[in-house]
Amino acid sequence: MLAKGALRRLAQAQLEPTPENYARAYAEEAGQPPSEAAPRGDGGELAAESHKTQLAAWAALTERLARNLDRGGRQWTAARRKDSLKRVFEGSRSDAQRLLQRLQSLLSAWEVDQPGDPAQTGVDDPPLDTAARGDVPAGVWPPVAAALGAAVRAALPPALPLAARLAAELARLADELASDGATPARAAAIEAVCQQTQRLFAGRHRVLDELIALCREMTAGLTELAEDDSWARGQCQALQATLADDGGLDARGLRAAGALLADTRRHQQRLRGERQAARDALKQLIHDMLMEAGELGDQAGRFQQAAAAHAASIEQADTLQGLAEVVKSLLHDTRAVQSAVGLSQQRLQADRARATEMEARVRELEGELRRLSEEVSTDVLTQVANRRGLNQAFEAECARSERGQGGAGLAVGLIDIDNFKKLNDSLGHAAGDVALKTLAAAVRERLRPVDHLARFGGEEFVVLLPGIDVPEAQQVLTRLQRALSEALFLHDGREVFITFSAGVTAWRTGEALQASIERADEALYEAKRTGKNRTCIG
Ligand code: GH3
Ligand code: MG
Ligand code: MG
Repeated sequence: MLAKGALRRLAQAQLEPTPENYARAYAEEAGQPPSEAAPRGDGGELAAESHKTQLAAWAALTERLARNLDRGGRQWTAARRKDSLKRVFEGSRSDAQRLLQRLQSLLSAWEVDQPGDPAQTGVDDPPLDTAARGDVPAGVWPPVAAALGAAVRAALPPALPLAARLAAELARLADELASDGATPARAAAIEAVCQQTQRLFAGRHRVLDELIALCREMTAGLTELAEDDSWARGQCQALQATLADDGGLDARGLRAAGALLADTRRHQQRLRGERQAARDALKQLIHDMLMEAGELGDQAGRFQQAAAAHAASIEQADTLQGLAEVVKSLLHDTRAVQSAVGLSQQRLQADRARATEMEARVRELEGELRRLSEEVSTDVLTQVANRRGLNQAFEAECARSERGQGGAGLAVGLIDIDNFKKLNDSLGHAAGDVALKTLAAAVRERLRPVDHLARFGGEEFVVLLPGIDVPEAQQVLTRLQRALSEALFLHDGREVFITFSAGVTAWRTGEALQASIERADEALYEAKRTGKNRTCIG
């Protein structure tokens, strides 16, 4: 360190690296008083030729010194190099020639030494002379490196064993850097871990790209796979719109698209179940009707046989009384058949009415399935707009604002139910769904007709409040929060209360809705952080 500092001093003062000047610079670097004996001049008593040779030798030596000082070796560790250098200077300061010779042999010994094993040389490595490179105090780097390390660790996927190993390695190196300072070996180790991390990140990016491509492919193929393509078309369009948004593709958008699919699927499953039941009932009915018709046929067949027997009896009857008996029996059979046919007719008519009814129900359910997929602007659970509906509303508001209608500005609010996970966990998912529906209805009915409410995903809603400024919008949301502190809904005979936190911001002309929502999200985070059930401005 001192030797290198001395060299730097010489360079800065633009002095020739004569032994005297070097010794003087070394003493200055070490904080010793300057030696009176050492002249600053060029040693004019030397003959010109020998002076030139000496200068060249010192210049070469200085260069070798600079090259070798930082390089830790197997035997000549950095610490040993410094010690030996100090001893040589101390022992030969007054004899320039001897100093030169001793330094030259010392350097030769250093140069034949093998570079050190990084694992072993770490302890003895010379600290990186940061001051010489960038005039930044060395103490600045450990916290910077720690912050960088923390950022990289946070970005690493925790579930991956390789990522966990890299994170641990980075943490260990940052700790060492803070406790033992920067060394070339440590810098190399950090660089190696960073390179491995970069490769891992690049791999993850590729996976993400492939995943998005796969989702696109699947949404495109879903239409063909669906039993009736119109059932899936709307969902696919919504998904494709989300996935096409390359630049703005974010976790929230994907989550909302996922929630949309899950909601629609749940609803479609129920409808398809109902439709299947109606179809099964219809089949049963047709079967019953066929049986009935068969029965009728049998009855008719039996009657025909009986009638033929009765006809023969009539022919053979020779007394009036005998004839009367046959006619009575024929009449009985005729009545029995008549009543059986009448009953069958009634039953068949009823069955026909039910079959017509069921056919209509099947048609109705199929229509509903189709509509469900087409009506993707509405959130199925809460019946308020979904993200697609929100985008439509936002575009309408932008157009209105461009036409100079709708008064001053547009306030954008983001609402997030407080502790919703707890509610789901304690009362069940179905109660959570009721809470979502009730909240949406409660907010909807308290907003003005010009306002928009949309389910943004999960338990988050967005409100667009045209024509009011942010403080007013904050008041609106705060009033909603107060109103919700009344009993919200009953679950198993118990009143369930929910609260929400909100962030609100002013839409800036020309900006995308996402940008406003991000600001509102920051304010929402502030509201969560400072106690929930409140509205902050972003
Ligand atoms: P915080 O107050 O900080 O917002 O806490 P939180 O529990 O509300 O927030 P968090 O984001 O941790 O949890 C949101 C939960 O909302 C997670 C998920 O189970 C639930 N959820 C999301 N969508 C639905 C849904 O459609 N129905 C039901 N029942 N629950 C949902
Ligand atoms: Mg949330
Ligand atoms: Mg929440």
